[in-house]
Amino acid sequence: MSWKKEYQLLDLDNEPDRTFVFECKKCRNSKRISVGMLLKKFDKRTFMSDVEAGTKCHDKRCNGPTRIVRENSDLLEPFQQGLP
Ligand SMILES: [Zn+2]
Repeated sequence: MSWKKEYQLLDLDNEPDRTFVFECKKCRNSKRISVGMLLKKFDKRTFMSDVEAGTKCHDKRCNGPTRIVRENSDLLEPFQQGLP
């Protein structure tokens, strides 16, 4: 199963400065959006797949659908960081 369907924003809300790259499927524009910004726009219980579906291209003339780009494979590792 995709991590986007497993993780909700509330799983990330202790890391408001973490950013995700949303890439437009149409024009390939990409934009970094922080968890803090996403939490202002979406409910905490929103799954990342729905965050993705609810985020359009930041170029208003394009307004295409976006996908969240995993920048590197250790994306989910920080969830384990900070443990003693
Ligand atoms: Zn676009």
